[in-house]
Amino acid sequence: MSSASSQRLCGRTAIVTASTEGIGFAIAQRFAQEGAKVIISSRKEKNVEAAVSKLKSEGLDVCGLVCHVSNSEHRKKLFEKATGGLDILVSNAAVNPSATAVLDCDEKAWDKIFDVNVKAAFMLAKEALPLLRKSSCGRIIFISSIGGFQPLDLIGAYCVSKCALFGLTKTAAAQLAKENITVNCIAPGLIKTKFSHFLVEKEEDKKKVLSMIPMGRMGMPHEIAGAAAFLASDDASYMTGETIVVAGGMLSRL
Ligand code: NAP
Repeated sequence: MSSASSQRLCGRTAIVTASTEGIGFAIAQRFAQEGAKVIISSRKEKNVEAAVSKLKSEGLDVCGLVCHVSNSEHRKKLFEKATGGLDILVSNAAVNPSATAVLDCDEKAWDKIFDVNVKAAFMLAKEALPLLRKSSCGRIIFISSIGGFQPLDLIGAYCVSKCALFGLTKTAAAQLAKENITVNCIAPGLIKTKFSHFLVEKEEDKKKVLSMIPMGRMGMPHEIAGAAAFLASDDASYMTGETIVVAGGMLSRL
């Protein structure tokens, strides 16, 4: 459920990666509710079809295609889909194949985490630039995590990858500031999705995790979508290189 009532993104086109469920889906839905044309994508065709058909049934202007963010051919097709131009890129995909402390992570899992969570985010931003440079209001938004500020023991390598996105945000923002393309980041706290389910599956883990959240509850995907819509809109026109923490009051900052 979102509370979208404004049309801040009318006339804009957005790409949101990993947007067939969870946070990415909520962002795509919110952008479209605010008037954007949204290109949604994820790895599995059936998920893309289901998400596109759900959003279309809500009268929203969306289209979709398969895009595994680590696949350069898929990324090429993703940008080709933006035939009328591109104003907003949300890089949202991430994986966490290793539930270990950071130095117990094996090399294969480390490479996968950095390939999807960091390298693909970098490549997407780089490849979006020719299109964003033609927009009068170019936006890049990275989805990081509160774990980039306050690492959780069990997802060590993932937290390092999410911290890297803060650096990518700052450095890309500095590079693009003069071109009027903003680069910002969102650090969600614990949000109720499939991705976070394993952290709260066992009752004792759930209690421990909830005790770290001052608001005492998990967030919902639409609560991240609201922050993303703000960053995508003209309301955030003088903001770049920043990370918005949306985490129910969890400790943040390095
Ligand atoms: P989710 O509900 O599990 O959704 C994952 C989405 O990503 C699905 O649409 C999935 O569809 C797609 N996907 C997975 N791997 C992909 C890939 N390599 N390329 C393209 N699409 C891919 O996850 P979520 O919780 O919304 O997480 C979204 C983002 O928020 C991630 O960056 C995550 O790190 C961040 N985050 C989440 C939380 C949380 O508590 N949930 C907290 C902090 C940060 P297919 O299976 O069809 O590919």
